[in-house]
Amino acid sequence: MGKNTDQKGKNNPNWRGGKKKYTCLRCGKLFYSYTESKYCSCECYYEVKKLGNILKQCLTCGKEFETSKVGGRVYCIRFV
Ligand SMILES: [Zn+2]
Ligand SMILES: [Zn+2]
Repeated sequence: MGKNTDQKGKNNPNWRGGKKKYTCLRCGKLFYSYTESKYCSCECYYEVKKLGNILKQCLTCGKEFETSKVGGRVYCIRFV
């Protein structure tokens, strides 16, 4: 007891040293990546490649953003 909860640094599963925070353009999920990425997973990437992207207008601020044709988000990344 106690040792497992004392995770620090690289032993911590939430450790994200050097990684940047991104928002998946398809599902809107937050994720971390060392390189600039648009999608949280291969699944999202291939879904978008398969379906193609469209520009949608954000319901909140009216700004256009890119999302998938099917099941895309309705808000731009500022409101995720
Ligand atoms: Zn995603
Ligand atoms: Zn917006």
